[in-house]
Amino acid sequence: MMTTYLTERHDEVGELARQFQQLVEDLKTHNAQLLEQSLVDPLTKLGNRRMLENRIDVALPLTRRLDCAVSVLMMDVDHFKPYNDYYGHPAGDECLVQISGVLRDTFRRETDIVVRLGGEEFLVLLIDTPSQEAWRLADATRSMIQAMGIPHEYSPTADVVTVSVGVVTSPPGTSADIDDMIACADEALYSCKAQGRNTTQAQMLSSPAEALETQA
Ligand code: GH3
Ligand code: MG
Ligand code: MG
Repeated sequence: MMTTYLTERHDEVGELARQFQQLVEDLKTHNAQLLEQSLVDPLTKLGNRRMLENRIDVALPLTRRLDCAVSVLMMDVDHFKPYNDYYGHPAGDECLVQISGVLRDTFRRETDIVVRLGGEEFLVLLIDTPSQEAWRLADATRSMIQAMGIPHEYSPTADVVTVSVGVVTSPPGTSADIDDMIACADEALYSCKAQGRNTTQAQMLSSPAEALETQA
């Protein structure tokens, strides 16, 4: 390569070429750092909301083309406010890191998208995953988090840290919209909370077409 040749020269041109090459390397590293900083949650090193938005633009059209089911898991830590209040914010942060470790170990497929949406809320998007499988994975994760046994003396519903998970599946053939899926998963999550927490609830994405069919 031309640059390799130039950088090997022992004169001023060689010096300039080496400086230039260094500059390019620095820029590359800097850009990679910037990109990572803006897409990765600094606490848990999971993706953030922006990462979800970026990847969804590719993921959802793909599921439409492949005509496969797509599921979204919404997970929220139960009684996390009293955890923070009594054990302190750093302990709360550590708890979030532990939970993200379980998510990372569980959702390992290249197409799995695992993000911390903010606060104590996590989202997992699973391509080509029908409802039953999504529920099974979600409930296994819930169970593993409980099994970590992080003491939570101030939880009114358990003596360890637990999570609730709402699951929604968009069946093959429906054009899933991420906002609809999140809203629907949120409903399922709310229903877990209402039923006493530390539980997993799944529902199908009700598209307007299906709603019409039910009415007819
Ligand atoms: P529920 O079971 O209904 O979800 O109750 P909750 O107490 O978990 O719900 P709430 O949304 O009221 O509390 C969320 C708490 O999460 C509030 C705040 O103390 C804590 N929190 C949010 N973000 C962070 C964070 O980044 N680090 C830590 N340590 N705590 C956080
Ligand atoms: Mg919350
Ligand atoms: Mg909570």
